[in-house]
Amino acid sequence: MRAIRRFTVRPVLPEPVAALGELAGNLRWSWHPETQDVFAAVDPERWESTGRDPVRLLGEVGSARLEELSTDAAFLERLDAAAADLRHYLDAPRWYQRTVGEDGPQGIAYFSPEYGITAVLPQYSGGLGILAGDHLKTASDLGVPLIGVGLLYRHGYFRQSLSREGWQQERYPVLDPDGLPLTLLREVSTGSTDPGEPVRIEIGMAGGQTLAARVFLARVGRVPLLLLDTDLEENPAELREVTDRLYGGTTEHRIRQEILLGIGGVRAVRAYCRITGAPAPEVFHTNEGHAGFLGLERIRELTVAESGPGLSFEAAVEVARAGTVFTTHTPVPAGIDRFSRDLVAQYFADGEGPVPGVPADRLLALGAEDYDGGDPGVFNMAVMGFRLAQRANGVSQLHGEVSRGMFSGLWPAFDETEVPIGSITNGVHAPTWVAREVLELVAREGADLDAGGPDAWDVVDRVPGDVVWSLKRQLRERLVHDVRRRLAKSWSERGATPAELGWVDDVLDPDVLTIGFARRVPSYKRLTLMLRDPERLRALLLHPERPVQLVIAGKAHPADEGGKRLIQEIVRFADAEDVRHRIVFLPNYDIAMAQPLYPGCDVWLNNPLRPYEACGTSGMKAALNGGLNLSILDGWWDEWYDGENGWAIPSADGVEDPDRRDDLEATALYELIENEVAPRFYDTSHDGLPLRWIEMVRHTLKSLGPKVLATRMLRDYVRDLYVPAARSARDINHDFAGAVELAGWKSRVRSAWDGVRIDHVDSAGVSDVAQVGDQLSVTAYVSLGELAPEDVEVQVVHGRVRGTEDTLADPVVAPLEHAEAYEGGRHRYAATVPLDRAGPFGYTVRVLPRHARLTAPAELGCVTWAE
Ligand SMILES: *Cc1c(COP(=O)(O)O)cnc(C)c1O
Repeated sequence: MRAIRRFTVRPVLPEPVAALGELAGNLRWSWHPETQDVFAAVDPERWESTGRDPVRLLGEVGSARLEELSTDAAFLERLDAAAADLRHYLDAPRWYQRTVGEDGPQGIAYFSPEYGITAVLPQYSGGLGILAGDHLKTASDLGVPLIGVGLLYRHGYFRQSLSREGWQQERYPVLDPDGLPLTLLREVSTGSTDPGEPVRIEIGMAGGQTLAARVFLARVGRVPLLLLDTDLEENPAELREVTDRLYGGTTEHRIRQEILLGIGGVRAVRAYCRITGAPAPEVFHTNEGHAGFLGLERIRELTVAESGPGLSFEAAVEVARAGTVFTTHTPVPAGIDRFSRDLVAQYFADGEGPVPGVPADRLLALGAEDYDGGDPGVFNMAVMGFRLAQRANGVSQLHGEVSRGMFSGLWPAFDETEVPIGSITNGVHAPTWVAREVLELVAREGADLDAGGPDAWDVVDRVPGDVVWSLKRQLRERLVHDVRRRLAKSWSERGATPAELGWVDDVLDPDVLTIGFARRVPSYKRLTLMLRDPERLRALLLHPERPVQLVIAGKAHPADEGGKRLIQEIVRFADAEDVRHRIVFLPNYDIAMAQPLYPGCDVWLNNPLRPYEACGTSGMKAALNGGLNLSILDGWWDEWYDGENGWAIPSADGVEDPDRRDDLEATALYELIENEVAPRFYDTSHDGLPLRWIEMVRHTLKSLGPKVLATRMLRDYVRDLYVPAARSARDINHDFAGAVELAGWKSRVRSAWDGVRIDHVDSAGVSDVAQVGDQLSVTAYVSLGELAPEDVEVQVVHGRVRGTEDTLADPVVAPLEHAEAYEGGRHRYAATVPLDRAGPFGYTVRVLPRHARLTAPAELGCVTWAE
């Protein structure tokens, strides 16, 4: 028999244990071990069998047990303590209230297409989602007033298993929102028992169709997460499926998802604030280009006269820009989100569609690749992201640099170094990713990780070596057991009988050097680099004195046949009888697998093709658990590898032939493991402790611990982006006069810029042979045409010169003073430049637009250089 409909009946909790519902209803339990203990105490076996899912646990445990707990004084005491702790966590002032306060935005809306918060809410595929989850949790811990916005995918991401032959199989389990830790956002109906109508969001789509969505609310500690869902009977069938799955389907499916996320998302935030009284966000943060349409909805709000201020399109753009932050996440050009211009035009036709009233030609121009090398047939979401955000960043220093190069076409008159894209290096949420025992150990020693000091982890120096070592062994052993359990399950899914699986009990050894390697499987991550020379790998695994063991995991995109072949290669190698006790591939890499994996590894391996790893975070999670990184100098590792906190695999940058490059890098990897990593791990003193290894573990924690924490990342976002964006937004928004003025000024400056010329530059004050200590006087004669001296800044750019082109390296920029005005818009400017360094020196002069509301020299794209 098959049911035609299914839904989940939620349990009624007896009054004394009602707080269990409160604890299950806030995802803070997922990073709070004491709350997990309370759930475990409800029914230890069910806690495990439900995959540690409080909602399922309470649904399955049955009323007899709940009644029993209702009279269990010891349990009730723990429950009350956990509930009181949660309430305190939600209400008490935290870092943001104490140190940022009124200066900072009262609300920040954070948009992301995926969120990896806990294994029981599988709404993520990989790093982007995990990062978004960590961002929300950390915002909650620090009291940053974030509102998360995303989509609720009916299928989440796929579950991976293997066929007998090692080929990836995908399953898309159907998620029932009633069985998830979510509530429906409803209109309040004060004073009545009626729960209120569900909030309904409507968006005009192509061809006059209307897409309706409801909004689910997940509570991530203090942070509300709004998830839009289109699975409503009133939607036409193809629109009902808009939120069917994460990253699947046609381009048209994707544009609908992105319209829903960006435009529907802003409407959901407005509804949430109206209903709860939460302050309207002053800052909007788009995590990757997918949510970029949110800027269009904000422009619509500002241009309509009936419900808004009725600004011009240009003034509305200035308002939207001032408060918007855009984070780009990929250095792979093919990873940039682009649509055909025609498709966008079809959805955003004048007068109808998602943002009626916003002129279609203006809107299309926002995503146009109208620069050298751009494709005129394309609408580029990242390009729109930069145009609609006054502040933009990449996710590591190296990625910032690569992004400035990738998008320099948008600011063609400027050097790459001045392209206005900064960087904030990612971080990870320690309470989610660090083994409880590690956190408890450093807390006992007095570490205050929340305070964020650079010496927060120095307490590890006080922990004796044998304590460090036995803790690492305990974590390794836990991983070994988890691996055996997962492997047995995987093999039975692959068709093996229990009788064939005796060997699984001896897979891995809790005393062998353990290397972890888990990732998605796009080609740049090079899953199979270690298989370049299979015999060499086999020798490392089977070394008689210094063996290594490898735990590997990763999902290929369902449409990526090449990626699936790589997985199959690894699986086939790992299936071989002679090595299968030392190398395993575990299917279905997810948060639940990751949590014991990072702490259990001694070494975390990462070998992407430089510079395609924007940041990478898994190595950070390993480091916080005392794991040593063995990685290509890419992403975050390029920035923070210091020679002592792990190993750098030399990358053969510049070697054109990819096969040869792989050979070189694989050889370097084998050599490092054989000659550096394994000898150090097995080099023990008379009491059996590998002292030099333990020193490296300590150094890793001390040097990387403070940097890789998401609290550091979030403080950086607040200080460098959110607070300045709120300031710009307030400055421009209070009566919109600032925006109108700025838009008018920009348009005047742009059209008059052709009249700006540097007529002549003179310098004096340096004797025949310039020497250190001389003062160089620079004078520039500039024609401003219709512009006034207040509209511009004239600068001298000086520094060391290099090469035959006389390129200025690391130039210093200094303003020239306005000295005299002449007839006909001509002006003299002057400055002195001290020559304080010996060697080749050069300078040039340029004119830039100047306005108090600009944030970067290149913002307008206008500049005139001396010839
Ligand atoms: C951390 C994590 C990722 C992202 O790892 P990267 O190193 O950034 O690629 C992906 N999936 C899971 C389950 C993770 O925990």
